[in-house]
Amino acid sequence: MKNAYAAAQVTQTEVPTDQGEANVRSVQNQTMSLLARRRNDYDVTNAVQVSCPEAVGAAVQEIYSKLYPRAAVRPLEQAFSDFGRMFRGEDPRFHGCDTTYHDMQHSLDVTLACARHIDGFERSQRPAERLGAKRAAVGIITALYHDVGYLRSTHDHTHLQGAEYTRVHVSRGGEFLADYLKQLGLGSEASIARRMIHYTGYERDINRIRLGDERYTRLGHLIGTSDLTAQMADRCYLEKCRDRLYDEFVVGGVARRTLPDGRQMVLYSSPRDLLEKTPGFYAMTLRDRLEGTFASAYQYAARHFGGMHLYMDSVRENLKHLEKVLKENDWSLLRRKPKCFTADNMHWSLPVTRAGGHAHAAHARRA
Ligand SMILES: [Zn+2]
Repeated sequence: MKNAYAAAQVTQTEVPTDQGEANVRSVQNQTMSLLARRRNDYDVTNAVQVSCPEAVGAAVQEIYSKLYPRAAVRPLEQAFSDFGRMFRGEDPRFHGCDTTYHDMQHSLDVTLACARHIDGFERSQRPAERLGAKRAAVGIITALYHDVGYLRSTHDHTHLQGAEYTRVHVSRGGEFLADYLKQLGLGSEASIARRMIHYTGYERDINRIRLGDERYTRLGHLIGTSDLTAQMADRCYLEKCRDRLYDEFVVGGVARRTLPDGRQMVLYSSPRDLLEKTPGFYAMTLRDRLEGTFASAYQYAARHFGGMHLYMDSVRENLKHLEKVLKENDWSLLRRKPKCFTADNMHWSLPVTRAGGHAHAAHARRA
């Protein structure tokens, strides 16, 4: 596994355009072999433990430093360390993360995906069109904090759960981020980041976000793409939709809405109903966002991985499995049991350092 990933990294600077069928098959085999061995709280390469801020921080900084050898990594180091403290509930200003779907693993998985998409993008552009070190750092920090709006202030006595902020969490995150970037010495980018974060949400029309800088707009597409593809590529995406996302939607007032005339509109009536609507959600997301507004920015992950479409292939695997569940009406096929990385579950603070020998490896295959 590690070797296949290392090989993919070595070749990441060139996308083969004239490779023969054998090479295409070899890339596909490599992809399938990586995905088959993946552990629940690891990234699509099964090499980075995405429940651990230190592991993801190190992986992201490595990508960043290779891309921009002269840029300072201090703001990124600080951002990861502050993120760990906030989400674990060690920052006295905030309650720790308590949203079970939008947990720490989700934010970290998205951030790693974002760094990889940025890497692929930068390596595909002419020098004058690259984002550059500063925008890239702002993009990575925005991805890391894109769901910070779910955290409750310790002075907040009206909300009992972070999920109550579902419908406004992106705007809240933007406010936090604008202030936080000033603390990191990136105050000049605060106003742009406050608007750019909306590419991860549904609170604003993403086609009407004006950043006044084409490269930031493209960066917003990379962040939005990473948010969607990393979560849908999660090894336990389907189980998390059923066991966690539906509950968040109920608490957040998304599953049922009260219309101005007092009537109730039911969007999702049960966890099963949410999963039954997931293929439709994906089709719409692919059309309107991934291949629409975001202009197929997901391709840049393959540039990073030497031709392997690890995120999109994982998404398609999940959707294929969901189709089987729906067709056979056999919900027992969703049997994965992912850990939850909220502040109450402190086990995630311990990174796994030993190579191999991991307990979940035995559960690598669904069947
Ligand atoms: Zn998210």
